[in-house]
Amino acid sequence: MGDSYDLVVIGAGSGGVRAARVAAGYGARVAIVEEYRVGGTCVIRGCVPKKLFVYASRFTDMFEVAGSFGWTIEGRTFDWATLVANKDKEIARLESAYVAGLEKPGVEIIRDRAVLTGPNGVRLVHAGRELHARTILIATGGHPKTPDIPGKELGITSNEAFHLEALPHSILIEGGGYVAVEFATIFAGLGVDTTIVYRGDRVLRGFDADLREGLDAGLETRGIKRIYQTNVRALRRLDRDIVVSFSDGVDAPFGAVMFATGRNPNVAGLGLEAAGVEVGADGIVVDEYSRTNVPSIYAVGDVTGRVALTPVAIREGQAFAETVFNANPIAVDHSLIGTAVFAEPEVATIGLAEEAAATHGNIDVYVARFRPMINTLSNRSERMIVKLITEADGGKVLGVHILGPGAAELIQLVAIPMGMGAEKADFDRAMAMHPTAAEELVTFKSPTYRYRGGVKH
Ligand code: NDP
Repeated sequence: MGDSYDLVVIGAGSGGVRAARVAAGYGARVAIVEEYRVGGTCVIRGCVPKKLFVYASRFTDMFEVAGSFGWTIEGRTFDWATLVANKDKEIARLESAYVAGLEKPGVEIIRDRAVLTGPNGVRLVHAGRELHARTILIATGGHPKTPDIPGKELGITSNEAFHLEALPHSILIEGGGYVAVEFATIFAGLGVDTTIVYRGDRVLRGFDADLREGLDAGLETRGIKRIYQTNVRALRRLDRDIVVSFSDGVDAPFGAVMFATGRNPNVAGLGLEAAGVEVGADGIVVDEYSRTNVPSIYAVGDVTGRVALTPVAIREGQAFAETVFNANPIAVDHSLIGTAVFAEPEVATIGLAEEAAATHGNIDVYVARFRPMINTLSNRSERMIVKLITEADGGKVLGVHILGPGAAELIQLVAIPMGMGAEKADFDRAMAMHPTAAEELVTFKSPTYRYRGGVKH
């Protein structure tokens, strides 16, 4: 009985921790096995430290407008080591809170690497112990994927970016997704000469075109160079720099090179074959209750390749525990998920982009572009974009897209009426709050343009 559990969770990240805590709260005997630190990508080397870096980088924009509000700021210097040390302190605090949150309901935390030995078996690699589990949950997350090119070992990923000993004088970031854009504005805000190289025609493929365009302009304003329709072909060391060979034949030196070219699920070396668990192109294959093809084995979070976002993993972990340990089957709805890119300017979105909505049926598009009030005294020309897409003639709200200060906070709240199936009239009924940027969402009179039969009018 000593090594027998109701649930063994592999991976103490967002999804695994939630599942373990909730299952233990329902009286299950639970162990969670983690080979690195408790907290997972989000807490240890993702969302949380990233957002702290974002705050640090945003002071640059604030300093820029401060003068027009009467401030004189002298002796502006930035110390990277202080930021990293303070960030590490906060991450350690959060990790302790996660550990305490597991221990309170009685979850046993095992610091080891776990390998499946069968539908109910887990081997601890270092301890050499075998665990028997009635149910196994795989929540091992993912890791940065890097292109297979000569000299790739000279590049870093977001994992290393959190622990650089010093800021480089310049950095090239390959990719055009969340990580590339967020780190580009972090590094640029902290004074690093920053360049993005992306194989596509503009960053954030799949986002609404107005947001992509507005963000591209914002990157330009902040001096971030973009090289589009180009790849990195090779890296080589030259003194303290790294020389990058691009696919267009150009060679150029950079102080550092970072790959932000997506993530792969952590499925290797887990014993999935031994247990007979099916793995697809995006990760472990699961049904709507996060169950794999092996009835005793479940998987949640990034390792399943469904939607690689922390709150989604948490929701999946909670639903798993409810389903299996509280006889309350819950299938997570992945259909309407708001998401934010904490770049500068910030981008956040929920629902259909204009291009996708136009193929859905007749739609009305409302767009407001305005200077956020903080820019007015400084004559900074950067505009905020607030965009609402509805079914034709005041129908259901299909998409909301925002670029500018507070975009993520706004979209989080818009997710509530959208989840309730709100129509344009529901937004209009809300009294505006003035002066805010959010009031634009509830004061749109007539559509900026319409699509009828797929044609824009
Ligand atoms: P993304 O999938 O967002 O972006 C990957 C980028 O790399 C894309 O622009 C892609 O191009 C490009 N790319 C992929 N493969 C190659 C290649 N072989 N050569 C050159 N370019 C390539 O991944 P990220 O790493 O940015 O982020 C991973 C995930 O983590 C995100 O999808 C998101 O779910 C999550 N995340 C969420 C954050 C948030 O909520 N704020 C922040 C950070 C991460 P293309 O567009 O052409 O496919």
